[in-house]
Amino acid sequence: MSILLPILALLLAGGIAAYHRLSLAMWTGLSVALLALAWLAGGHPVAVAVCAVLLAAVAVPLLLTDFRRSRITAPLLDFYTKILPPLSSTERQMLESGTVGFEGELFSGRPQWQRLLDQPAPALTAEEQAFLDGPCEELCRMMNDWEATHVRADLPPEVWAFCKTHKFFGMIIPKEYGGLGFSALAHHKVIQKLASVSSLLSSTVGVPNSLGPGELLMHYGTQEQKDHYLPRLADGREIPCFGLTGPFAGSDATSIPDTGVVCTGQWNGAEVVGIRLNFEKRYITLAPVATLIGLAFRLYDPDKLLGDTEDLGISLALIPRDTPGMEIGRRHFPLNVPFQNGPIRGKDVFVPLSALIGGEEYAGKGWAMLVECLSIGRSITLPSTASGSSKAFAVVTGAYARIRKQFGLSIGRFEGVEEVLARMAGNAYAISALAEATAAAVTRGENPAVPSTIAKYHCTEMGRQVVSDAMDVHGGKGIILGPRNYLGRAWQGTPIGITVEGANIMTRSLMIFGQGAIRCHPWVLKEMQAAMIEDRGTRLREFDKVLFSHIGFAVSNAVRALWMGLTASRFGRAPGDAYTRRYYRKLNRYSAALALCADTSMLTLGGKLKFKEKLSGRLGDVLSQLYLASAMLKRYEDAGRPVSDRPLLAWAFHDAVHKIELALSGALRNFPVRPIGWALWVLVFPLGRRAQAPSDRLGRRAAALLMTPGDARDRLARGTFLTPCENNPAGRIDSYLPKVVLAEPVERKFLKALKGSDVENRPYEEQLAAGVERGWITEAEKAQLHELRTMTLDAITVDDFDPAELEAAGARPVPALPGAEPEAA
Ligand SMILES: Cc1cc2nc3c(=O)[nH]c(=O)nc-3n(C[C@H](O)[C@H](O)[C@H](O)COP(=O)(O)OP(=O)(O)OC[C@H]3O[C@@H](n4cnc5c(N)ncnc54)[C@H](O)[C@@H]3O)c2cc1C
Repeated sequence: MSILLPILALLLAGGIAAYHRLSLAMWTGLSVALLALAWLAGGHPVAVAVCAVLLAAVAVPLLLTDFRRSRITAPLLDFYTKILPPLSSTERQMLESGTVGFEGELFSGRPQWQRLLDQPAPALTAEEQAFLDGPCEELCRMMNDWEATHVRADLPPEVWAFCKTHKFFGMIIPKEYGGLGFSALAHHKVIQKLASVSSLLSSTVGVPNSLGPGELLMHYGTQEQKDHYLPRLADGREIPCFGLTGPFAGSDATSIPDTGVVCTGQWNGAEVVGIRLNFEKRYITLAPVATLIGLAFRLYDPDKLLGDTEDLGISLALIPRDTPGMEIGRRHFPLNVPFQNGPIRGKDVFVPLSALIGGEEYAGKGWAMLVECLSIGRSITLPSTASGSSKAFAVVTGAYARIRKQFGLSIGRFEGVEEVLARMAGNAYAISALAEATAAAVTRGENPAVPSTIAKYHCTEMGRQVVSDAMDVHGGKGIILGPRNYLGRAWQGTPIGITVEGANIMTRSLMIFGQGAIRCHPWVLKEMQAAMIEDRGTRLREFDKVLFSHIGFAVSNAVRALWMGLTASRFGRAPGDAYTRRYYRKLNRYSAALALCADTSMLTLGGKLKFKEKLSGRLGDVLSQLYLASAMLKRYEDAGRPVSDRPLLAWAFHDAVHKIELALSGALRNFPVRPIGWALWVLVFPLGRRAQAPSDRLGRRAAALLMTPGDARDRLARGTFLTPCENNPAGRIDSYLPKVVLAEPVERKFLKALKGSDVENRPYEEQLAAGVERGWITEAEKAQLHELRTMTLDAITVDDFDPAELEAAGARPVPALPGAEPEAA
């Protein structure tokens, strides 16, 4: 023991220093102190001396700064410069765009939760709330989704007019330019509400308020462009679209082959320097009705009219629809959610240089402009759409599952359905927390590059699960399309959200971790920047500072991950109440594990990491679930820790933690360098994988919450359009729930009495009459059961059509595909 004592003292000092991230000097001091104690406590003098020498051998070179820089840092810097993957300017712009908010804490291995909890609870202004309760509610009430999607394949003219009059297309445009000047939070709430009633409507309103001419002009437009276009966009005189994608450039948008050549040409009767454009774009939302086309193209200046550079790079311009050479194509038909979308082409379209967004000064800066604005759009439109539909579908499916009976029971009482309902409840809770968190970040003035990607991916993926689940619970009722079907179009349209604004497979496997690892990591970007400093002395000094902070950080994460793994993260400071404190502790553990695995992956794989998409996707999942769980905890705090929300929070939290462990174990089991994967496994899972998926008991509570009126259910539904009215069958079904619940005991009593009686097989009205006559039920109860039957019929009835009604009026026979075999005579 006397030999082991000094060794244990050194290990303890190292462990404490690493866990608490003490400085080098403090670690040395603590080690000396504990060694001295070990000696006094009877440690073997030789062992103490050996440990002291070892300590000195490590600590002294590190503490002597000049020695450390020249002998340790300098060779490491040379090596680092060699392995640093070459970054294209596009990649650099991507990595350096946006701000880092709380997600940075999750990558720190020791999140400062107070930073999250101190953020003010998101709140709307009185004016924004009045808009939601007034024009937004009215618009939802007007919207007949079936008529729009099936009969017109467009929004009705009165809906277009209403949107323009009430400036739905100008929510993000400042008031000084005639827009509504709404916060991102209000924008999110409007899209969320519209999406709960029609994804056609929410997409149409979402696009002008998302990445496109309005957003780009506000950030980069010249004063003249702003004065001219913004008021016209705000009140709908101009309908914008933005064309980036083409047949040969989809996910790899920087490879657009569309060109603009600087030259002289005629404009308004005079010869001016301008741009001759040739382009072919497709999938462009609002293009068929757009009056103002935002266009991305590669700008060339072969005659050097603007300067010395010939290939200026991606640039953005605004082109009026009626410009000669511009061809607005026919319409695409996106999955029966027929928002306006189509191709545009341009042949030798000539525009003056003033058509460039931001003017000549911004020529060639188009990609940076897009990337900088992209996260705002990604933070709002798609997450809010998923949030609105998921919240509404979850609660309405809960109501439907209580109303619809099979085998004499509400279908929601069967365990199989209950399991699906629980998943819907948890996912809807998670989506709504995530969507609100990113909207709140934008409202605070952040440009949340990484969270917006997380929100885009996870809200649309969880939203797809919610709508699929809703379809399954509704059975045939979800499948038969018609005015009574509130699910079918949303289900058909889910791949749209998955594909647009960065298709999901690429978003998960390339972007979330790719951007997150560098943007959110406390040291990686700083290291890259330090290594690029011109002056050798400054470069070495800065690199040294950052490198040793990084090494300390990595060691600390290894120790923290191991300690919290061994203790099942039971200890350590954490905020929250008695219920949630353990949740924060669990997240502390996975935060350290993520930071450790991320560092190790970058160190061992270097530039190859960006091609290891499976690893990157899994580590991205860990980051995403950490962010998602934090957003849920923040939501719980902001709502005043409501006890009734706990089944939802608990289900969604356990699901997130379970997914974190699955992703981490997948990453480590498949780690490209196997021994490193094994070593990481020991540090991250010293006691094996322990997290469980949400239990059946918890699932029962979450499902029950959807099927029973209550404040947690109301909170979940808040912000959606569930007003019962003619155009809103979902709202009607939801409104029946309290009465259905009240009628259930009466129904049970009646059915018990009815069973085996002589009227059992008589029509329902006769049964009720007999029930009153024989004293089974009162007159009032008869009326209650009658109403229950009417409500049930409204809930379960589906539509049918005259065959002619299903024919598309404008459809023509499909022409033979080029090259197709001619039919045999
Ligand atoms: C309804 C609709 C509306 C749209 N609106 C607009 C608009 O208004 N303006 C506009 O400019 N564009 C618009 N788009 C285009 C949209 O942004 C693109 O569809 C999207 O970028 C994907 O391009 P793609 O469809 O060509 O698919 P592809 O790029 O061919 O991708 C196919 C699949 O491969 C995956 N993939 C590609 N590269 C990688 C990689 N490196 N790693 C992993 N996976 C990868 C993708 O994730 C995807 O799953 C719209 C598209 C649709 C369908």
